[in-house]
Amino acid sequence: MAVLEQLTSQQAIELEDKYGAHNYHPLPVVLSRGEGVYVWDVEGKKYFDFLSAYSAVNQGHCHPKIVNAMVSQAETLTLTSRAFYNDMLGRYEKFASEYFNFDKLLPMNTGAEAVETALKICRKWAYEKKGIAENEAEIIVCENNFHGRTTTIISFSNDPVARKNFGPYTDGFIKIEYDNVAALEEALKSNPNVAGFLVEPIQGEAGVYVPSEGYLAKAKALCEAHNVLFIADEVQTGIARTGRLLATCGNCACEQKNCSGTPDVKPDVLILGKALSGGAYPVSAVLANDDIMSVIRPGNHGSTFGGNPVAAAVAMAALEVVTDEALAENAYQLGELFRSELNKYIETSTIVNLVRGKGLLNAIVIDDTEDSNTAWDICIALRDNGLLAKPTHGNIIRFAPPLVMTKDQLLECVSIITKTLKQFEK
Ligand code: PLP
Repeated sequence: MAVLEQLTSQQAIELEDKYGAHNYHPLPVVLSRGEGVYVWDVEGKKYFDFLSAYSAVNQGHCHPKIVNAMVSQAETLTLTSRAFYNDMLGRYEKFASEYFNFDKLLPMNTGAEAVETALKICRKWAYEKKGIAENEAEIIVCENNFHGRTTTIISFSNDPVARKNFGPYTDGFIKIEYDNVAALEEALKSNPNVAGFLVEPIQGEAGVYVPSEGYLAKAKALCEAHNVLFIADEVQTGIARTGRLLATCGNCACEQKNCSGTPDVKPDVLILGKALSGGAYPVSAVLANDDIMSVIRPGNHGSTFGGNPVAAAVAMAALEVVTDEALAENAYQLGELFRSELNKYIETSTIVNLVRGKGLLNAIVIDDTEDSNTAWDICIALRDNGLLAKPTHGNIIRFAPPLVMTKDQLLECVSIITKTLKQFEK
């Protein structure tokens, strides 16, 4: 079979099944094209994308401004490594640092790499600035976290599927309950070796758990009081997804522009990925101020592709789109509408227990056990009705469309979702 021969969906699935490692369980749909809020399968059927590649495609599929930036840079210079300077990286570092109101940025490629980077920065800061004895630093994390799947990160996961048979694990992490200020206070109180607190502002993978109002601000204040770095993993929540530029939107540049939320907290270390490139290219970053970032010196950390010229060009274009098209505001307004429409449906539903989320990061909880197939079956029916979503943790379905959606498109999606749910009412 020639590599570029037109495939049917069935053929494409069989190829992945036979030649690819089985590290994912995709919904059976084979996509070959995307534009804005839509994707098409190889047979030409059109769908609303209601996952956005786990919140990477916030700016919509194949956004022309992002694609143009990528193509134009790809024709000019793609990779120098950091052995030499290139004329795009510094521009991007300035642009993104100012955009998020930090002194410096450290460029990486994937979300997990950026989390690893933040953990390394935090530990080094602990030894060189806070004065913790070498190898004694501890970082507080939350139960049911999701920060990626590298060896260190799964060391503090409590998902058995991600952990089992991947030990031995990395030491130096303390796990506390999410959204529990008292637990954080307790963990900080009697332990001078705590260097950082790593937290997702909303736990996305766990099932879109939104913490109580004020949790993040209280957690930040506790970290400040104990000289502990507040590290926000905004890989999924960041870049306008939750109706603000950042879910921890403290003092960031968007406040004066299109931020429709109230300022909350400013992290000491901010981790971004996914939509930093609009889904066009793997781009992630860690941002911090000089007093923290200055612990990183030549040779301490790096990546051949991190900060390459294409990534730099793509990320600048992707961030410009967020501002130009007021995506935070749109996510805020459409999110309110989405939850209010679904709540009307839920009032009389026997199959959906609740809808929760912020902006356009939402989930519904299906009235069935976690090990049931109902959520999966609903996603198959949604697919058949022209909308793509995916269950997370058994009975929860995440809904996260591109933020370039219009109100009419959102209402059309609500009607697809409610029509589909009706098929499953008991
Ligand atoms: N952190 C969070 C909060 C995420 O949601 C994810 C991915 O879903 C990651 C980190 C890992 O990102 P990546 O898959 O790009 O490594």
